[in-house]
Amino acid sequence: MADYDVDLFVIGAGSGGVRAARIASSYGASVMIAEEYRVGGTCVIRGCVPKKLLVYASRFSGDFEDAAGYGWTVPDATFHWPTLIANKDREIARLEAAYTTTLERFNVKLVKSRAVLEDAHTVRLSTGARVRAETILIATGARPYHGAQIAGLDHVISSNEAFHLKQLPKRVLVQGGGYIAVEFAGIFAGLGAQVTLVYRGENILRGFDDDVREHLRSEMQRRGIKIITKQTVAAIEKVGHGYDVELSDNEQIMADLVMFATGRKPNVHGLGLEAVGVKLGETGGIAVDGYSRTLVPNIYAVGDVTNRINLTPVAIREGHAFADTVYGGKPTEVDHSNVPTAVFSEPELGVVGLTEAQARERLAKVDIYKTSFRPMKATLSGRDTRTFMKLVVDGVTDRVVGCHIIGLDAGELIQLVGVAVRMGATKADFDATMAVHPTAAEELVTMREKAMSYGRAAAE
Ligand code: NDP
Repeated sequence: MADYDVDLFVIGAGSGGVRAARIASSYGASVMIAEEYRVGGTCVIRGCVPKKLLVYASRFSGDFEDAAGYGWTVPDATFHWPTLIANKDREIARLEAAYTTTLERFNVKLVKSRAVLEDAHTVRLSTGARVRAETILIATGARPYHGAQIAGLDHVISSNEAFHLKQLPKRVLVQGGGYIAVEFAGIFAGLGAQVTLVYRGENILRGFDDDVREHLRSEMQRRGIKIITKQTVAAIEKVGHGYDVELSDNEQIMADLVMFATGRKPNVHGLGLEAVGVKLGETGGIAVDGYSRTLVPNIYAVGDVTNRINLTPVAIREGHAFADTVYGGKPTEVDHSNVPTAVFSEPELGVVGLTEAQARERLAKVDIYKTSFRPMKATLSGRDTRTFMKLVVDGVTDRVVGCHIIGLDAGELIQLVGVAVRMGATKADFDATMAVHPTAAEELVTMREKAMSYGRAAAE
């Protein structure tokens, strides 16, 4: 230790970095953490947390409409964007302060600076100061990526800027078909904007179960979102207060705001990685082993910068496992299988495990159970919407290997289904569980009719 200023230097105070720093310190390590922007990282400052607050805001419009069927008269509701943004900013500032306090409480020294690797044990700060560390953890996250250069790209915003708009745009064009695109399409539409989503592929949410993709698309369309597939944004021209957006098939769309949600790239540039021998993997993230160790034995990386599964809880788990491994005497690999996830679209989507297509590829026999029904709340409200649920079952072992839900609180539901799937629950276990009535979730334990059966046994 004599040779080093600290045991651990963490670059990036986001979800993964803060967790790693705190746990390493609790094991007795001396820890310094550098952050060039705001403590809390993408999730807290311009990701999951502010996004969910905007999602909540956007859902009131539907609630006001639904209330009428239940006997309520809601006077013309009006929405004030600056109030929402100011309140959201206050909450984010509170959380940032709470993160900072946590670091202080755990004796982690925070330096508000960019940090760059000089050699395998030396980090240079923007002041020019150098810190020598026995171990270095890179947790620098990822940033929005806008794709190919097109005319007018400088008019495009990413989700980063969407959180700080001065006013709510009337007409929004979102390009992309992933998490961020469908979530923000729902937010803007719920708040009253006219939304067009442009996606380059056949259908939104590539990688998700095909039934889910189809169902969500039709639900989004029911809510007035125009979805244009197999097109990309070709050019954007500023016209008066808005933009004339030209698509690849030459269609012109007028918008007041153009947002791209075309993926994110790991923050690997300008960190001095090449100089010290830290290598990137095929997906552009820092290559690491199961313990988040890079090719340089004392340098580790966790979270989105490694481009494994880019979700906050995964980064947190990786950061914790790193600290357990290096400082806690408990070598821990993170299990990246069966990670439950939610897309906070409107309606919400919750998923764990295999899609039907993945199961058919991997398993000898697959049974599919699915249901689509009108949620009870929609009876009196008269809302035209359907909840969708699907179980993917290994036909040989009877284990539930996938669950896909679209509907109210799907994110909450999938957290608990995730426990069952992880424990290896069988379809018979689901069936033996008493229903909670009347709920939507009871459908998960009352689906008896197979929708499909694939595999050798099915063909026999
Ligand atoms: P995604 O990778 O999920 O989606 C990117 C989308 O942009 C895809 O539809 C992709 O199409 C499309 N795209 C990519 N490049 C281009 C291009 N050059 N031109 C046109 N379209 C393009 O990224 P997001 O930005 O939505 O989100 C980043 C990650 O952040 C997510 O994958 C997720 O891990 C995480 N996240 C999680 C959330 C949650 O947990 N609720 C919420 C928000 C983000 P194609 O499908 O054809 O590749």
